Amino acid sequence: MAQSDVAERIKALQSLSEKDNTQALNQLLAMGSTLSGSVPYAVRREYLSTLVTLQLDAAKMDAAQASVSDLLKLAQDSKDHVGMVLAKTKSAVIMALSGKTDAAIGQLMAAEAMALQAGDAQALWLFYAELGRAQLTAGRFEAALESILKSLQYAKDLPRHARVSHLRSLNLLSNVYMLMNNWDKALQVIEEGLPIADEVGSTKLKATLYLNQGTALGKMVRPRASLEGYEKALRFGRESGLVPIQATALNNIGDSYLISKDYPKAEVFARQALEAYRATGELGGTITAQSNIGFALMGQGKIREGVAEVRAAIHLSQESGAKTDQEAILGELGRMYEQSGLYHEAVATIREQQVLTEQLFRLDREKSVATLQAQFDAVQRQKQIELLARENSLKDAEISNQRLQKIVTLLGAVVTIMGGVFVFLLYRRVRKTNRQLREANQQLEFHSIRDPLTGLFNRRSFLDLMGKRSVDSANFRREDDSPDGLMILDVDHFKTINDTLGHAGGDVVLVEVAKRLRSTVRDSDMVMRWGGEEFLIYSAKANAEHLKNLAQRVLKVIAQTPIEVAGKSMTITVTGGFLSLPFSGLPEADCNWEKAMQIADMALYLGKVNGRNRAYGLNRLLAPFEQVMPVLERDISAALKAGMVELVEVLGPMPHEGDLPSHPAMLGRAA
Ligand code: GH3
Ligand code: MG
Ligand code: MG
Repeated sequence: MAQSDVAERIKALQSLSEKDNTQALNQLLAMGSTLSGSVPYAVRREYLSTLVTLQLDAAKMDAAQASVSDLLKLAQDSKDHVGMVLAKTKSAVIMALSGKTDAAIGQLMAAEAMALQAGDAQALWLFYAELGRAQLTAGRFEAALESILKSLQYAKDLPRHARVSHLRSLNLLSNVYMLMNNWDKALQVIEEGLPIADEVGSTKLKATLYLNQGTALGKMVRPRASLEGYEKALRFGRESGLVPIQATALNNIGDSYLISKDYPKAEVFARQALEAYRATGELGGTITAQSNIGFALMGQGKIREGVAEVRAAIHLSQESGAKTDQEAILGELGRMYEQSGLYHEAVATIREQQVLTEQLFRLDREKSVATLQAQFDAVQRQKQIELLARENSLKDAEISNQRLQKIVTLLGAVVTIMGGVFVFLLYRRVRKTNRQLREANQQLEFHSIRDPLTGLFNRRSFLDLMGKRSVDSANFRREDDSPDGLMILDVDHFKTINDTLGHAGGDVVLVEVAKRLRSTVRDSDMVMRWGGEEFLIYSAKANAEHLKNLAQRVLKVIAQTPIEVAGKSMTITVTGGFLSLPFSGLPEADCNWEKAMQIADMALYLGKVNGRNRAYGLNRLLAPFEQVMPVLERDISAALKAGMVELVEVLGPMPHEGDLPSHPAMLGRAA
């Protein structure tokens, strides 16, 4: 396979994996065995990092771990920081999945400086998304929110994958809302994400979103809709070969049946869930599934068998030190005993739960604020009194079932009160996070028009403008109006600039480029930051002559004077593509702004291929629209070779030679 074929093939398998992870993984592995040693580094890095992702989604932990080690070694041998950051991020994901959340966060924090320095938007997006995910798992809401918002920011720098990364960020955001118990908001974000998941054909993300939907609906006490969500999650989880999602969906379906007291069905699904969790090695899930099997058995009257399962689950969670899990399982066990009329056992279980609750209480109190101290003490005292009362009652051999039942109720009330304090604490935390989220949203709103780095208009403001354009298209255009100009620009060799000056230095360059662009356009022109180092100029009422002059001025203002960054001086050049809208007098129904942008982007690409520091403009079509457009939309060079369009070439000043005039030239076909 040629090098470019290999890269293409990996891309194709990445999109396949959104639909069918198993298939994609098999084909990727098959491909790996045919990869020759001559494959360039970048392609091998992409291969390995894709492999890890697919293996993780298939819950093949050991294989993923081995691939991560390969990736790390490859990156270290090539001294490539981006590769190292990718490897460290993925290895933290593996840690987090096997329950070592704190270690995962530690590893990610340690790699943050390197990630920022490497300055690759894709790697940074992944880095902050995974850091946010781990922080969510650890219940560090505020930190998680901050990381996820950062990842959203970097997602914007990924124009080619924008839809999928937008979707991933929405998915994470739905997780934040879920953990903040903000079910309405979570559902809203999910509703927004589902059509995008359809559009990009991501069965994987559909599975995840439906899983969250099921959970949110369950919390809102809409059991039937919730079950439907889980069932869809299971279906799409199976279709895409996502074992962890399947496990959680199975477990939650089992849970739903427990709640509706359909114990035989609950048992069936809990058993399937246990099997799936064991395959993924996810301990928390294994514990839940096993205790659910126990409750389902108890519900069917198989008390001894059921209790054995529940105890085994408690034992597992003791080993892992998950006190909250144990507390919840004991609470549920107490309820199941009570439901089965086994009051003695119920009391003993609740007592066990009390001990744990007290420990958890102490842990939480240590962290709590002084104002809550008094409240805690009061509840503690009350709990002591109740415990004594319960001890006395237990000593009384004559206790009737009825009295025991009362105690159960009483103890239950104590647990509820204490639970109330927990909820209060959690509520405070959630409120604080909600406030921060609101502030963050306001900030996002503010930044929704301006790009925070350069202060230029951002992509969204242009989309708004174009949105108005199609709404007004009926009266937007009159015969005598001159068309508007669109010019897209991309900084040349920006990766090298980043490598030489560092990411922060690269940012300084972007700010300076933005300033120079603003200084050279008319006041009525709109300059936007289109993506990472891509800029767009929208020049209202600009004829072909004006656009050509604008291109000359732009190329000159950027390249003529070197940019000073941290004592270094660097000549920066840009490459551009431009045309008018309406294009060549075509109605916008035939060639709308999006098509026009696509054509301008191809013209830019042509400029890159032909040596950079130049701009190509398309003036007009030289053949009928129906003939030209299909060719032009696909392959600009072919259209040029066939003499279908008129092209203008504008060259930038020669680097280091000062103020050279540009050389506009008319070309009939590609140079
Ligand atoms: P070409 O001449 O072909 O355009 O080469 P290039 O190196 O500029 O390639 P490309 O346009 O693909 O690279 C864009 C780089 O810009 C990749 C990304 O790391 C970097 N980048 C994107 N956004 C930012 C940013 O906000 N700040 C900095 N410093 N770098 C960014
Ligand atoms: Mg670019
Ligand atoms: Mg570039």
